[in-house]
Amino acid sequence: MPTQTIDTLVVGAGQAGVAASEHLTNNGVPHLVLERDRIAERWRTGRWDSLVANGPAWHDRFPNMEFQSDPEGFPAKEQVADYFVDYAKMIDAPIRCGVDVRSVERLTGRAGFRVNTSDGMIEARNVIAATGAFQTPVIPPVVPRDAPVMQIHSFDYRNPDQLPEGAVLVVGAGSSGSQIADELMRSGRKVYLSVGPHGRPPRAYRGRDFVWWLGVLGLWDIAALQPGTEHVTISVSGAYGGRTVDFRRLAAEGMTLVGKTETYQDGVLSFAPGLGDSIAHGDADYLSMLDMADAYVERNGLDLPKEPEARRIAPDPDCVTHPVLSLDLAQAGVTSIIWATGFSQDFSWLKVDAFDEAGKPKHQRGVSSEPGIYFLGLPWQSRRGSTFIWGVWHDAKHLADHIATQRTYLEYRGPNDKKAQA
Ligand SMILES: Cc1cc2nc3c(=O)[nH]c(=O)nc-3n(C[C@H](O)[C@H](O)[C@H](O)COP(=O)(O)OP(=O)(O)OC[C@H]3O[C@@H](n4cnc5c(N)ncnc54)[C@H](O)[C@@H]3O)c2cc1C
Repeated sequence: MPTQTIDTLVVGAGQAGVAASEHLTNNGVPHLVLERDRIAERWRTGRWDSLVANGPAWHDRFPNMEFQSDPEGFPAKEQVADYFVDYAKMIDAPIRCGVDVRSVERLTGRAGFRVNTSDGMIEARNVIAATGAFQTPVIPPVVPRDAPVMQIHSFDYRNPDQLPEGAVLVVGAGSSGSQIADELMRSGRKVYLSVGPHGRPPRAYRGRDFVWWLGVLGLWDIAALQPGTEHVTISVSGAYGGRTVDFRRLAAEGMTLVGKTETYQDGVLSFAPGLGDSIAHGDADYLSMLDMADAYVERNGLDLPKEPEARRIAPDPDCVTHPVLSLDLAQAGVTSIIWATGFSQDFSWLKVDAFDEAGKPKHQRGVSSEPGIYFLGLPWQSRRGSTFIWGVWHDAKHLADHIATQRTYLEYRGPNDKKAQA
């Protein structure tokens, strides 16, 4: 099979790959997008059945196309996937599905990369790795795989019927863990939720969704995590019409909150002390957002309805004042554990000098240390919003602009070149 050549190869056709294609086209950069499954596959088959977008339809989208649904509603995951399929059609994105990129290596003696795919070889001057921030489910090695309890990652959770009868422990109280725990409790399960440090912004305040507040307060655009907040997860939800994640309410409805899951021995799990501190931290984060919003309203003379009841915080539930520090799983009837403990990235196919000793991409806003290699969709790639739908679109623009600028340099012919040609 002859080797195909292309200026820029984009690997992955999730939202990042589709955004990259739009901006490359706008810059006149010939390109091809390769996707091993289908467009936006993760939204179709890599999430639980009832998942809806965390942000309202007016916000969680690319600028050039709206959802065909209530702009204030939270689109279901299939609608999000369909949105990207439609978007790719609208921009006529050159996407080839069902093609796995197996390796990318630098060519020797000339610029560019040799790309080994399940559909033959490609040579590309540039490669954009748009393979996603949430690739490989991470389960911390706490409970042995052969322990007498079903263990799955949130990536493999679909719905309550998938689990054996009995109580469930959900580990991790970010957006995934808190939503899954809530769903399981609503289905009639006894649920334990292991909660660590978290932020939990108000779903809405003074008539505006929190995505709006983050926007006007410039918080989507902050460039890096505050030092010391690396392990603080953010808990938000668009489920059931969109509600503030409130762990006190979940406890009042019957959920047992426990601290961070630490160790396991002979069927007994131990939880770290500090649940109360985590809950207090979440409250402080919530209240600080209300303070910032109030200050913004005041400063800009906005006419948004006051909402003093939003500041009412219920008393600590019993499971917070008298935390369970160890749990005998069999005695508590816990038959399954769902690890909502995040993801890592897998760039093992990218055999280039663009990673530090820990294997993390070396890059500036996605432009890597290896000329011609780009990353897209990384957490905090340029800002807080980088892994989100609207944020990746802006990062993609930066990469496409960078590639176009490099092409201009490479096309430059100076007086010496002209003399040499004459
Ligand atoms: C549970 C969950 C809920 C989320 N909810 C929201 C939300 O409501 N709003 C929001 O803005 N963001 C949300 N996000 C964050 C983000 O929008 C999604 O994770 C999104 O899927 C990221 O898109 P992506 O294109 O960067 O990566 P992905 O969607 O993961 O796409 C990467 C693509 O690359 C392909 N691929 C990987 N390796 C190869 C290879 N070697 N060769 C060929 N193809 C390859 C994969 O098949 C995949 O289709 C959520 C994330 C999670 C985990």
